[in-house]
Amino acid sequence: MTERRGNGQGRRYGGGGGGRGGGGGRRPEPEPIRGVRDEARLSEELLRMQGASYGRYKSLKGDWDFGDFTLTVERVQADPFAPPSRIRVLRPDAGIPASAFAAPVRRRATADYLGRRARRLLRGSLLKIDTGGQEVIARSSCQVTEDGALDLRIGVNLPGHGRRIDGRTAERELCRTLPGLVDDLDWDEVDEAEAVAFADSVADTVALRAGLADRGLVAFVADGAILPRRSGVSDEPMAGEGVVPFSAPESLRVSVDLPHAGTVTGMGVPEGITLIVGGGFHGKSTLLHALERGVYDHVPGDGREQVVTREDAVKIRAEEGRGVERVDVSPFVRNLPTGADTRDFRTENASGSTSQAANICEAVEAGSRTLLVDEDSTATNLMIRDERMQALVHGDREPLVPFVDLVRPLHRDHRVSTVLVMGGSGDYFDVADQVIMLDAYHPHDVTEKARTLAHDRVEAAFTLPRARVVDPGSVDDDTAKGRSRIKRRDMDVLVYGEGDIDVRSVEQFVDPGQITGAGLALRALVRGRHLDGQRTVAEALDSLEETLAKEGVTLLGADFGGDYALPRRHEIGAVLNRLRTLRVVRQR
Ligand code: ADP
Ligand code: MG
Repeated sequence: MTERRGNGQGRRYGGGGGGRGGGGGRRPEPEPIRGVRDEARLSEELLRMQGASYGRYKSLKGDWDFGDFTLTVERVQADPFAPPSRIRVLRPDAGIPASAFAAPVRRRATADYLGRRARRLLRGSLLKIDTGGQEVIARSSCQVTEDGALDLRIGVNLPGHGRRIDGRTAERELCRTLPGLVDDLDWDEVDEAEAVAFADSVADTVALRAGLADRGLVAFVADGAILPRRSGVSDEPMAGEGVVPFSAPESLRVSVDLPHAGTVTGMGVPEGITLIVGGGFHGKSTLLHALERGVYDHVPGDGREQVVTREDAVKIRAEEGRGVERVDVSPFVRNLPTGADTRDFRTENASGSTSQAANICEAVEAGSRTLLVDEDSTATNLMIRDERMQALVHGDREPLVPFVDLVRPLHRDHRVSTVLVMGGSGDYFDVADQVIMLDAYHPHDVTEKARTLAHDRVEAAFTLPRARVVDPGSVDDDTAKGRSRIKRRDMDVLVYGEGDIDVRSVEQFVDPGQITGAGLALRALVRGRHLDGQRTVAEALDSLEETLAKEGVTLLGADFGGDYALPRRHEIGAVLNRLRTLRVVRQR
């Protein structure tokens, strides 16, 4: 246990009147409590508030000195039914050893580990901390700083009986549960072996992913990995006798040395075009889904700790109805019946095929060189066109160039690899570098067999989409009242300023907090002048990413009263592209 430092150091809030009267009919906010603001005083004040009107809680705002940590009451809810109040805990020394925080990867893992511990400890309390699901993603709620301080952001439902303060319960939560939590997060109280193993596992995943490019791989799936999930609504690993652990086909098996786990073996998915085939219900989509998630690190016990994909991998799908703003889709879409210039394609309401074409072109524009595609969610007419259809509808009547004719030039000319699930058509045999067949969840290398069935194919040309420069003013999150507005509705909608952004088809959002984070990132693109009317979308994302790497995730929301997690550049780009107000000023 750490010893509490003496308390008498409370900050003094003396001086002139701070009380701000609320405008237009609003009740004036109570002044912050003045004088000594330490733990004992907070306790006293809360007990004294018992039965007072709920608005008095606002007088708690500001810092409270708890000796070994500072509690800051940042936001106070207006009534018991409003979103929870927000508090922050900063503990300069929680005893975390440098080995657990000096390296950025371990710092992220240690923070995540402590956040999960905090969530467990807070069960049944009014204090709530945001933590991840199966992925380990930097988030605002629990951070370890560069110098090893612990920085928590917690939501608290300040208790009331109707519109009266329940000061006794509040006192219990803030003056007993909270300090107890902080003590229990002290490194001396933590199961150190477990915490170190957690960080080792994340560090191994990161090393595994970082090594893919040098090995000429786009993905790696370890032998023994558990890919299927418990159910469509649970991301936990499937358990029980029916689960088939992954086992690599001999011809694709590679072995990799990891810093902590030692040598692991598994299936290396080479660059180029990889086709995943097999009968219905044999596990194709489950494998692809694991690859989609392989851009993230997973918690120990997830089953996918050693399933990794290049960090630039983007899941591509059809998304009927989305808006498209001046995207160069000309590799896929040529002479439209409307005569529109498809190098500069705009629509409020894309079809299945044009939306998928836009999704591919935007992903490549944003820098992705790894595409993941599942036939389950594609537009067939953008994927294939068979001979009989070509005989009936001649080339000059068909504006679409199917992906099967572009997937090779994409790789040969631009190093864009594709992993594609396709059980319904053999056309991709013609262009695949490797074909993996799933048979009752067991992968087999059937490349040779598929090659004997391949035909010659006349391929099309893929020119890189023209880069776009957007008007930063069109990416404004201010409402008509001039206030910033960023909210999330489930995993479906990002409310941004006056508009809603439909993110249901952005499948690599894995954490609700990332959706909020992407909204904050859009705002940061504008406020940080990364989008400056000169830089292209990709350059602006580069610039934001650089700043984020330096300053950490809290850069996104210093003034934001809610939880959020770090999105990838590709999801930030995806949200930008789905913003209905987006205006492109020119293409380069
Ligand atoms: P496909 O895309 O080939 O039609 P899916 O990937 O959707 O098949 O998988 C079908 C079902 O099999 C799903 O319910 C999935 O959870 C289950 N499944 C997938 N892989 C495994 C596995 N390795 N072991 C046990 N069940 C699995
Ligand atoms: Mg499927």
